Formats: sequence, C-alpha cells, structure tokens
Amino acid sequence: MSATGAPRRIGVLGGTFDPVHIGHLRGALEVAETLGLDEVRLVPNFRPPHRETPNSSAQDRLAMVRLAVQDLPQLAVDARELERDKPSYTLDTLESLRGELERDDQIFLIVGWDAFCGLPSWHRWEELLEHCHILVMQRPDADSEAPEALRDLLAARSVNDPLALSGRGGQIAFVWQAPLEVSATRIRQFLASGRSVRFLVPDAVLAYINAHGLYRASN
Ligand code: ATP
Repeated sequence: MSATGAPRRIGVLGGTFDPVHIGHLRGALEVAETLGLDEVRLVPNFRPPHRETPNSSAQDRLAMVRLAVQDLPQLAVDARELERDKPSYTLDTLESLRGELERDDQIFLIVGWDAFCGLPSWHRWEELLEHCHILVMQRPDADSEAPEALRDLLAARSVNDPLALSGRGGQIAFVWQAPLEVSATRIRQFLASGRSVRFLVPDAVLAYINAHGLYRASN
C-alpha cells in the first residue's frame, strides 16, 4: 500500500539487460507515466554463464542497471532473480513479490510483443494472470497476429484502455510506443567492433562498460 493508503501500482520489466539500454529505459518510463505507476522494477534475469560470448556477468549486469536508474525516481532495480543460483521462472518472481505486497496492490508485468507471443512456452503461464496484469509494449506500426494459443486468452482477458485495468490482476492491455531501434545485441556488436555506443546507453553505463572492458572482442 502507498503512503496515501491507496493500492500500490508496480510495474515489472524482466530482461537480460546485457547491457541495459535506452530502449528498456524509455519503455519503462513511458509505461510508468502513461499508467501512473508508483514504480517500475527492472528485474535482471539469471542466466547460465557464457551461453553466448561476449557477454557480462550477473554482477556487471546488475551494476549497470543500478547505474542506469540511479537518477530516475520512477524506476527501481529488483535483484531477486540474481540472488538465486538457478534461473527463476517469472511465476516464481511474481509469487515472491506478491508475498511482500498488500492484497490489493497491483502488479503490471511488462513484456514486449515478441516476448508476449512466446508466453505459451513459459512455465505455468496460465497462472501468471492470477498475480498480475500483463502490459504488452507494442509498436504502432506492428501488424503481427497473436499466435493461435493466445487468441482465446486475448479474447477473454484483454481490455482496450490500459488505464481501465482494475483489481490485482487478471487482464491484458497494450501500450503503444514509438520504437527505439536499439537492442543489447546491437550494442554488444558495436562494442566488439570498436564502435561507439554513446547515446544508446546512459553515460554512467558507458563509463562502467569502459572501466571494466566489457564486450570487447577479446573478452
Ligand atoms: P538482446 O538483444 O540481448 O536479446 P534486448 O535488447 O532485446 O536484448 P532484453 O534484456 O532481452 O533486451 O529485453 C528485456 C525486455 O525489454 C523485453 O521485454 C524486451 O521486449 C524489451 N525491450 C528490448 N529492447 C527494447 C526496445 N528497444 N524498446 C522497448 N522495449 C525493449
């Protein structure tokens, strides 16, 4: 519950954040402002080390996310998935977060359209909406169709206006955003080839990348 006694409204944006970039930050900030959320928590995912190279350690990814949000009161970092030594399912994270909140507090799980389309492969995905609403970040020019497995769910649970999402969870809404054509993959590629990533990541994140020699081709 917030200081005013009203239910809290908390956004959750999970990701690898390898590294965090302006696409994540603008997306989170726009959702926070559009929906009047109390905060959006960036939740770095645990990832088995060195599936792909070059990449950075959980410790570095967390440090960069912390630096990225340090001056942004609407954004926070939630490190719970990194505090375990194995991958967490989103459902586990939501259940754990629920345990810390008041019954009527609202959780908004924020996912990109691509991630949303992959929902049926998530662990016990049909239970997610028991704990949260789902906000799908969609680009205005997108023409993608939802996969068959999600059609019934969308028909039953989606609402047109994200501001109309009520109660502690159970509904789905789309938030339309002008896309920023940036991805962590592209940032890693730029750095590996010696190109600048200035203005694609916050300056504090860039300083961290440089100070720790991250994403260089020799890493
Ligand atoms: P990678 O290129 O390594 O796959 P990524 O840039 O897609 O990484 P993730 O950490 O996988 O970043 O993304 C976390 C979340 O942020 C996902 O829900 C994803 O849809 C969203 N996201 C990623 N890039 C953007 C962007 N440019 N604009 C808005 N949302 C984004």
